[in-house]
Amino acid sequence: MLATVFGLNPEKKRDIPKEGELFKIIQLFGKTFEIRYGFYEERDRHTPYAEPIAIYPDFEKEPLHTDDGTPFVTEMQAPCSCFNGKMDMNSVCGDCSYYRRGDELLGTCACPKNKKDVGRATEPIPSSCLKT
Ligand code: SF4
Repeated sequence: MLATVFGLNPEKKRDIPKEGELFKIIQLFGKTFEIRYGFYEERDRHTPYAEPIAIYPDFEKEPLHTDDGTPFVTEMQAPCSCFNGKMDMNSVCGDCSYYRRGDELLGTCACPKNKKDVGRATEPIPSSCLKT
């Protein structure tokens, strides 16, 4: 009764995405990312109630930069040594002040030290990045 009042339909099943199905095409700084559903790890597939999730590129394994040398990062990427913010064991790039959100969980890293030298002058490296 209440479900009907609030317009909910308990009979209706939620659509579970299929592996390989397109989640979204993201265009960011001249690059196109085709994000599809899947599993990051083979063992995830065998976990009870496992559902395919949107799989983002692994920029730690395969770095990718914008034309001006700015690295792409994902919000959930493990932080690098330049992390700027309050670090704890769960910190990710998305918690870092250098993270620039793009679309969904894709973004870029604004840390001058991480910028790839593409033959242009870059900003001075902040002291927080000059760790030894
Ligand atoms: S400096 Fe860039 S790569 Fe490093 S933690 Fe921050 S956002 Fe991530």
